Amino acid sequence: MEKKRKISIIGSTGSIGTQALEVIEKLSDKFEIIALAGGNNIELLEHQAKKFKPEYICYNLPSSHAGEGGISTRGTSVRNSGEGYKILHGEEGLEQICSNKENDIILVACSGKIGLKPTLKAIENGIDIALANKETLVMAGDIVMKKARENGVNIIPVDSEHCAIHQCIKDIRQVDKLIITASGGPFLHKSIDEMQKATVKEALSHPRWHMGKKITVDSATLMNKGLEIIEAHHLFGMDYENIEVVIHPQSIVHSAIEYKDGSVIAQLGLPSMHIPIQYAITYPERFEGIKSKSFSFTDAARLDFEKPDFEKFPALNLAYFAGRTGGTATVCLNAANEEAVFAFLDGKITLCKIVDIVEKMLSDHKVIKNPSIDEIFEVDREIREKTKKLFA
Ligand code: MG
Repeated sequence: MEKKRKISIIGSTGSIGTQALEVIEKLSDKFEIIALAGGNNIELLEHQAKKFKPEYICYNLPSSHAGEGGISTRGTSVRNSGEGYKILHGEEGLEQICSNKENDIILVACSGKIGLKPTLKAIENGIDIALANKETLVMAGDIVMKKARENGVNIIPVDSEHCAIHQCIKDIRQVDKLIITASGGPFLHKSIDEMQKATVKEALSHPRWHMGKKITVDSATLMNKGLEIIEAHHLFGMDYENIEVVIHPQSIVHSAIEYKDGSVIAQLGLPSMHIPIQYAITYPERFEGIKSKSFSFTDAARLDFEKPDFEKFPALNLAYFAGRTGGTATVCLNAANEEAVFAFLDGKITLCKIVDIVEKMLSDHKVIKNPSIDEIFEVDREIREKTKKLFA
């Protein structure tokens, strides 16, 4: 990159956002930050603003769960901070950031449905997206990918599995199968009984990755992998029949593809989110950046693979079912799951109940085939309301 790449980060105070800033700090001669948007960790956001000197910061990213993000306030006009940056607020602030064509790329690193509208706005403005937000594709993959094609916008996945596949693919038409790896989470070799009695603390102790609470619980139920199957379907236009999940506890092989001729290409590396984040924001170039040490096959020593246990982890089948059904089925899956995960985190239900609830909501849901964005948000709202009633 000859001139500095201009970037904004939505969700800069979260797990992906803070790691992205660590990458950018290492590559400070390659990036200029236009805007940082964060949730309720105002202190951290202001600290980031002082350090990285963006043009704008945006407070109060709305969050669907109290305790994980701030409260949405409708936008007020742009204010000067007195610190050299301008201040924006809430959804309106995000819209302003994503309409700013100064951006070369926007990293969408927030969690939850709040990621969807700004992503669409950025696509409409021809701005490339580094996408870490799962809901964007799970809720509206058809619309988002179609808009991206129409506007010539690159959607570069940040999720380690999709990033791996993105790195393996030369020509998607020659690919027969996507093979998504899963670490298996904390309950991989525990009994169903132990899983049923799991405490919040046990569910949150992921053996390989440190992530936000919602995604960590999703990794314990394997719903995270289910959502990733849906994402992969949209990102790479692959039929669900040709997307396979394999358990790989070491998290060294981040995913693989099989070509028509039987060649399998996998992407390997140490389990660090810095690598896929850096790949996504520097694509198509590569730099030394934050790499801390070289990968060693002999240190890794062994790589294990096993079939997922669909009975112990029914979330996988539910995700395949919702994906194949299409339309608003995946909106229902996502909304019911998120509310159930929050209920688990709040101590209202057990871990295994999460997937039971999702199954019930899915079987009751009347699918809308080709929903508009408004219909998607309406279904999302409806499902959340109905799901919450189950805990009342
Ligand atoms: Mg992942």
